[in-house]
Amino acid sequence: MICPICKKPVDPADKLAPFCSDRCKLLDLGAWASGDYIISTEPLFDLEKDQGNGE
Ligand SMILES: [Zn+2]
Repeated sequence: MICPICKKPVDPADKLAPFCSDRCKLLDLGAWASGDYIISTEPLFDLEKDQGNGE
């Protein structure tokens, strides 16, 4: 397993996995807050459209 922030190898059994450290975990949360992960939420828009089809 590789830390998505700094690309260092991480033991998957580590409680911090997939991050190598608390620092990288916090950096990832920061990326969330700044919108870097917005792409992963796009498919949800299709689900909302389907819900609007009910009569
Ligand atoms: Zn890291």
